[in-house]
Amino acid sequence: MLSGWREVMARRPWRISAKLLIISSVVTVIGFSAICVNVMLDMRRGEEALARQTLENLATTIESDISRNIEIYDLSLKAVASNMLLPELATVSTPVRHLILFDHATTARHFGAIQVYDAEGRLTIDASTLDPPSENRADEDYFTVHRDNPGAGLFISRPMLFRGAYSIVLSRRISDTDGGFMGVVTGSIRFSYFHELFERLSLDPEDTITVLKRDRTIMMRRPFDLDVIGRNLNERQSWKADNLRAGSSYSGQGPVDPTPRLYARSGDGGPLFVVAGKPLSAVFELWRKEAYRIGAVVLALIVFMLASTLVLAREIGRRAEAERKLEELATTDALTGLKNRRKFDTVIDVEWRRAMRQKTPVALLMIDADHFKAYNDTFGHQAGDQVLVGIAICISDSVRRAGDCAARYGGEEFAVLLPDTSATEAFKIAETIRLKVQGWSDDQATSTVSCGIASLVPAAGMDWTILVAAADKALYAAKAGGRNQSVVASLPKLSLVA
Ligand code: GH3
Ligand code: MG
Ligand code: MG
Repeated sequence: MLSGWREVMARRPWRISAKLLIISSVVTVIGFSAICVNVMLDMRRGEEALARQTLENLATTIESDISRNIEIYDLSLKAVASNMLLPELATVSTPVRHLILFDHATTARHFGAIQVYDAEGRLTIDASTLDPPSENRADEDYFTVHRDNPGAGLFISRPMLFRGAYSIVLSRRISDTDGGFMGVVTGSIRFSYFHELFERLSLDPEDTITVLKRDRTIMMRRPFDLDVIGRNLNERQSWKADNLRAGSSYSGQGPVDPTPRLYARSGDGGPLFVVAGKPLSAVFELWRKEAYRIGAVVLALIVFMLASTLVLAREIGRRAEAERKLEELATTDALTGLKNRRKFDTVIDVEWRRAMRQKTPVALLMIDADHFKAYNDTFGHQAGDQVLVGIAICISDSVRRAGDCAARYGGEEFAVLLPDTSATEAFKIAETIRLKVQGWSDDQATSTVSCGIASLVPAAGMDWTILVAAADKALYAAKAGGRNQSVVASLPKLSLVA
């Protein structure tokens, strides 16, 4: 009996609020999550930058140590190479020659003895003994490179077994005053030097330190693996040269084992360079723990927020429904289910103004049960109530247009407001109602109604009570005319709409 659009209008504001609440929560959750993810990624980048810096510093420190030692050793080789030109050397005894050549030579635990080979590759002088064994190294790289290239400078060999220990051999050319090839002076740095150097650092088992030559030959690696030492990274197809540029870092699978690591390289200063690597799992370990912790808290907050939003939205919906029901109760007549007098007064006020603005007619039917007192007296009050309900059904069955308003005006009197309806149309509706009531009531106690009809286009300054009074007057006329009939009010020409 409630007209559809009114129902929708009554519900809509609430429905929008519940929807708005859900939308704003979802937007907040998305925004909040985006900020969190951003912060976490920032933290991750920070961790990576810190690890990269640490690795770079480590690589540079190791590289400096190696370079310094090579440089010191090279000074000794240079001194021997230049002292070999002294003419006096041929005239002195072997022990004195040793003193002249090796007096200032660096001797350290990890350095092999300095040796001199003649132009044919024969070992002629050995710092460790006055009586060197006879051996020939004419085929070794560290010999041929100087023989064939006067400008080779300091040559660092591949790692090799040298005199019973894994070492790298450092060599320099001995040239006479005219630049002619006189032989080669060599020295060696044993791997024990690197082992000791790496042991001094506090490193995790999975951390790697790789010492490489400029041509990217692996000279030494920690963890130590003989299979890898001496290999050239150029042979590894998957490993791009770009990955090991000076001062750069690389994150991913390395050339030796499949563990993904963050690698950082030392600078370009010395003859060797160093790459330090740390597994990505270790780099991000702290970050991951923090991310899980914050992620769990954020997730819990999001779940809580969404859950409370849903609860709140449901509550809003329930309240809206309750309010709608309350409103319906407050505006509905309990017995007949039609609108009550209060609601009717509000509706007629609104429709009257609208009709005034739009200059359209508004019609009113006043319907009154005939001889109802007598009916009550004969059949009782309860039976009378049933008749009122029946009349109400007949009315609402005949008045179905949106905007029409059927109300119980009081007692056994009903009012039907029909916006935008002429008197003729209103009369037809009144007749429909009247005949329906007549047809519906049972034979032994026929109930009838009388109808007063008025329709007019409200003029400015007019009050809707004029319409009610006119319909009432027409109803009175219907009663006077013998009841069970509809009478249209006669109104001044100005406002009458036929
Ligand atoms: P008329 O044809 O002139 O309208 O005669 P009537 O008896 O209907 O006129 P009147 O207005 O004198 O009587 C109205 C009666 O309607 C009085 C009362 O007993 C009855 N009535 C009013 N409200 C109710 C109601 O809610 N329920 C019932 N059963 N009767 C009601
Ligand atoms: Mg009556
Ligand atoms: Mg009456």
